[in-house]
Amino acid sequence: MSTKRRRFLHTASLATAGVLLPHRALARKNRVPYSESQQHNRELFATMYRDHAPLYDFRNIVIHHTAAEYATLAGIDRYHRNHFGDPLGAEYHFVINNGKKRPLGLVEPARFRHQQLAAHLFHPERAPDALAICLIGNFEKRPVPTQMVDALVELTRSLMGHFSIPVDRVQTHREVDGRLTQCPGKHFDADSFRARLTDRFLPT
Ligand SMILES: [Zn+2]
Repeated sequence: MSTKRRRFLHTASLATAGVLLPHRALARKNRVPYSESQQHNRELFATMYRDHAPLYDFRNIVIHHTAAEYATLAGIDRYHRNHFGDPLGAEYHFVINNGKKRPLGLVEPARFRHQQLAAHLFHPERAPDALAICLIGNFEKRPVPTQMVDALVELTRSLMGHFSIPVDRVQTHREVDGRLTQCPGKHFDADSFRARLTDRFLPT
């Protein structure tokens, strides 16, 4: 291997580890236009049911947040694997990124790829066979970016259609578990979110 190539690989791996990039550069690097996230999301929704078949018969959808602004799916995966000892990692079926580490509004499939239930509720019997969608960020502290809500509406509508889940089975973590949690934070407006799930005239 040439010295030049070796140096490039070393630099690339340090950059991936976040070592060489100061915070501002990281933010700039991830300022991907939302239209690119939307394009990625549309392709995901068009292929994910076929790619991960056979599908589990999901009956509910529950919305969470990470409460951590700089979380990534890779980090959640690692943390849940170590913390819960579950080899499948992240205890969410999808995450939606907030533009801090990964592009704003980008949907990433997590446990959905394995078609298995996740441990994301204190009272799973109150929302059996639930899909868990996690918004990255702390929405107890700040409003949810419009693009994240848009991406969440599109993902949830897709899942509702595919698994025949009615809107009254789409809830926030707090609605399921009550006083045990604030998740997904006081800035997440569950009623206006649900109103958009049944809106026939959603712009595409
Ligand atoms: Zn939660």
